[in-house]
Amino acid sequence: MKLIIASNNAHKLVEMKAILGEYFDEIVSLRESGIEHETVEDGKTFLENAEKKAREIAGISGCCAIADDSGVCVDALGGAPGIYSARFCGHHGDDEANNQLLLKKLEHEENRRAHYTCAIVLVYPDGTSISAEGYLHGEITDKRAGANGFGYDPYFYLPEYGCTTAELDPEIKNKISHRANAIKALVEKLNK
Ligand code: IMP
Repeated sequence: MKLIIASNNAHKLVEMKAILGEYFDEIVSLRESGIEHETVEDGKTFLENAEKKAREIAGISGCCAIADDSGVCVDALGGAPGIYSARFCGHHGDDEANNQLLLKKLEHEENRRAHYTCAIVLVYPDGTSISAEGYLHGEITDKRAGANGFGYDPYFYLPEYGCTTAELDPEIKNKISHRANAIKALVEKLNK
């Protein structure tokens, strides 16, 4: 069976291909599949957005498709920015502006607990699906640290590692990340 990963993000592709390789005959990215398609992410949850992406690509291609959606959820902000993480500041993909807005909103806040969430959904050509979520718990720090990773990583502090996710060795982050945990949870369901 062929699986299309509904993403062109190089990091996600490597991670998913490595873990899911044994379950499919062929795994390709959206670009490799020749499909040009942009899903409107208008779901109310990470799962809804991931499912919409995967379902659209499975429908267009007639193959299996897998998609994920992720973000950072801050306790003191009632789970925000959540599904709006990439465009928290008002426009898409400006990591620095997103981080500055987050710090501003937490300026007088003592509770800095937060978690990254990743939802992942696999849709089969017959429309059936399997989904899973994964998390990584930490705190939002005021002190920027580290140059690895992306997004909120320079301010996402992991107390048990004594550093931010941007300071972690990428190999370690890939093992403990919300995305890795979601993929592992999905694989457990595939194995059942
Ligand atoms: P997407 O699921 O790739 O669209 O990611 C949504 C947004 O959530 C990203 O643009 C980042 O702002 C944030 N995000 C998701 N995962 C991570 C992570 O591992 N580190 C830092 N930011 C993340």
